Amino acid sequence: MDIDCVVVGAGVVGLAVARELAQAGHEVLLIEAGEAIGMGTSSRNSEVIHAGIYYPPGSLKAQLCVEGRQRLYAYCDSHGVATQRLGKLIVAKDQLQVDGLKALLERGLKNGVDDLRLLDQQQAQALEPALACVAALYSPSTGIVDAHALMLALQGDAEAAGADIVFHTPLLRARTLTGGFMLQLGGTAQMSLSCRRLINAAGLQAPALARCIEGLAPHSVPRDYLCKGNYFSLTGRAPFRHLIYPAPEAAGLGIHMTLDLAGQARFGPDTEWIEREDYRVDPARAEAFYPAIRSYWPDLPDQSLQPGYSGIRPKISGPNEPARDFLISGPAEHQVPGLINLFGIESPGLTSCLALAGRVRQLMV
Ligand SMILES: Cc1cc2nc3c(=O)[nH]c(=O)nc-3n(C[C@H](O)[C@H](O)[C@H](O)COP(=O)(O)OP(=O)(O)OC[C@H]3O[C@@H](n4cnc5c(N)ncnc54)[C@H](O)[C@@H]3O)c2cc1C
Repeated sequence: MDIDCVVVGAGVVGLAVARELAQAGHEVLLIEAGEAIGMGTSSRNSEVIHAGIYYPPGSLKAQLCVEGRQRLYAYCDSHGVATQRLGKLIVAKDQLQVDGLKALLERGLKNGVDDLRLLDQQQAQALEPALACVAALYSPSTGIVDAHALMLALQGDAEAAGADIVFHTPLLRARTLTGGFMLQLGGTAQMSLSCRRLINAAGLQAPALARCIEGLAPHSVPRDYLCKGNYFSLTGRAPFRHLIYPAPEAAGLGIHMTLDLAGQARFGPDTEWIEREDYRVDPARAEAFYPAIRSYWPDLPDQSLQPGYSGIRPKISGPNEPARDFLISGPAEHQVPGLINLFGIESPGLTSCLALAGRVRQLMV
């Protein structure tokens, strides 16, 4: 074989996997279709380090978010990557939602998030006077991270451990061989390359790419759906110091307010099921943002929202279907030795990147 491990996709997950495998002594080539690291979903998210509250206990999302959050804060501290533990308030606007917060508190505790506190209206408004709510769930360990600086740090570590990263190099198709794979690479220098192990961290394209692996049974690849999330930014400063989330919805966490590291507020993401990648933000969608935000911040001024950016969730469950877990599909699932497909790595994939990489390494026996 020409090379031991090929990792496809230089988003935060592919970079973390390349780093993990290179540091474990594997020979690693990371191939990226785009011109630079992190041009996909990894640059189009809320940059929130999630605590691990929402996900079903025992799920990969729950386990990897809690483990990933702890590892991520430590990693960022030791690598000079900016984070801020701002803390977050999930707000209830009526008694029904208070019951929802109690259920979330229970779930968070089961997931190992042991610092959550249910606040009454007075306690919540003591933290955030502009907030309208009847109660709130306070998560002090939720924070924000500079996602691009994180990816640069992961790239630096991976390269220092011997990984090579090439850009403008899409994997077009692969064929299983005895003991490995033959890859057909596109881009400027089209070529074939053989490898022993193949890790598909192609994000939104991961299912489509898996369908181009000859020898992988079609039923091992889930159907993929694109669920866009649009963000609007606030002109002026928001009167909040914490991240503010409504009670969660079926397809996402609801239109929440996050702050970037410069203190600028942004609201989103909403949910829009789409057929093909399109990152334009329709200014008309702001109409639905105003009432959603005013449910927890009644004083949001008129005309204060501007179209920001959007990201697309790499879903493997469709509208009206129950949310699916991360799917780390290794040989035990699909019977192709040496192949790991990462499907449905939506939120909290950024928070979980180091823990996800650890799971991939464990599968590489
Ligand atoms: C709206 C939104 C908000 C989110 N907010 C948060 C949050 O606050 N906190 C959190 O923890 N998570 C959040 N997430 C989730 C997080 O952003 C993702 O889980 C994470 O970025 C996924 O990283 P990735 O490396 O798997 O994918 P990507 O970043 O998309 O990287 C995949 C890479 O693969 C490359 N590629 C694709 N096909 C090929 C090919 N054939 N050959 C070579 N390269 C290829 C692409 O060019 C791309 O660079 C959010 C996601 C969305 C959509």
